[in-house]
Amino acid sequence: MKFIIIIAGFIGAGFLSEIKGQKGQAVISMMSGVGNSRKDTVLSVKIGAMQTRLPITVINGRDKGPVFSIVAGVHGYEYPPVIAVQELLKEIKPEHIRGTLIIVPVANMESFLKRTPFVNPLDQKNLNTAFPGSPTGTATDKIADLITREVISNSEIFLDIHGGDANEDLLPFVCYYNRKDKHNQTGLAREMGIKSQIGYVVSYPYNLYPSDPAKYALKQAAQQGLTALSIEAGKLGTVQRENVEMIKTAVYNMLVETGNYIAKRSKQPSIKPVIHLNQQDYVRVPEDGIFYSSLRSGDKVKKKQVLGYITDEFGNKKQDIISDSEGIILYKIGTPPVNKGETLFCIGYNQ
Ligand SMILES: [Zn+2]
Repeated sequence: MKFIIIIAGFIGAGFLSEIKGQKGQAVISMMSGVGNSRKDTVLSVKIGAMQTRLPITVINGRDKGPVFSIVAGVHGYEYPPVIAVQELLKEIKPEHIRGTLIIVPVANMESFLKRTPFVNPLDQKNLNTAFPGSPTGTATDKIADLITREVISNSEIFLDIHGGDANEDLLPFVCYYNRKDKHNQTGLAREMGIKSQIGYVVSYPYNLYPSDPAKYALKQAAQQGLTALSIEAGKLGTVQRENVEMIKTAVYNMLVETGNYIAKRSKQPSIKPVIHLNQQDYVRVPEDGIFYSSLRSGDKVKKKQVLGYITDEFGNKKQDIISDSEGIILYKIGTPPVNKGETLFCIGYNQ
C-alpha cells in the first residue's frame, strides 16, 4: 500500500497530456532479437561505496503483441506480491505469451532482504514516493529512475503489485487512475480490474500536470500515457496462500484480457460480482499512541461510527476515532502503535 494523499483541485483537461519518458537501453536490448525467449538480468545500482541491484526478466513471445510490465516488491515487506511473481516466473513460458512481458520480481531488494517496511534502508526513502526518480540521487532515486526509463518507458501496460505492508490490514482490490483524457488506456485498466476477479475495483482521481513529479510508480505510468493499474492483495507482513493465488489468477486474467497470454488455462475462475469504489476517505491518526479497534479490512462502516480509540502508554484512553463517511474499509493500521499523521483507515465508497 502506499498511503495516497489526494490533492484536491480541478485542473483543466487540456493540461493533462502525457510526458514521454526517455527509454532505457538495457531492456530494449533484451526485447530485441529472436522471439520465444526469456532473459534474466540484474541492473547494478551504485551509490558511493554502497551497492544494490534491480532484477529484471524479459519474456519475448513468438508473435508481436503488447509490452506488459509486472512489478512486485516496490515495498519489500509486502510478500504475497513477491511470492506470486516468483511463481509466475516459474509457470509462464515464452510460448504462452504474445508480445513481451517485462517483469521486476523485487523492485526494492534492500527493503525485501533487510525486512524493512515502506522504506529502503539504504536511504530511508519510500520508493513509491520517489518517481520519476533521478540518475544522480540516492539509492531509491536511482531505482525509481531505472524503473521509469527501463520498465515504464518501454511498456504499453504497467501493473504494479502491492499489498498491505507489515502493519497494514488490507482488503484485496485493483486500482487505477481515472485519467479522462486517455479514454482507451483508462477504459482498458478498468476492464482489466473487472476481469481480474479480485472483486473490488477502485479508481483514484487524476489531476497531475505533465511537469509534476508523479511520486507513485502507478501514477508515473499513468502520466506517461500507459494503461496503468495496481493489484493490492496481502497484509500484515506474512504470506497468505489465498492472496498469492488471488494475485496470480488476477495477473493471468489481465494477460488474457490484453491478448498477451495465449496458452489454454485449465481452470477458469468463477465470475465474481464487481464493486466499484471511486471515492476514498483517509482517516488520519490524530496523536501518537496505542490503537484499539475490533474492525477489519472489508468491514462496512457508517458515518459517525466509532472506529476505535487511542490510549497512551499507561492505558488511559485519549480519544475515539470517528468515521466521517459511510463505506468499506479498504485498509487500516492493523497493529497497535500509531503515529500522528499516518493513515489510520482508508474508507472506500462510490459516488
Ligand atoms: Zn505497497
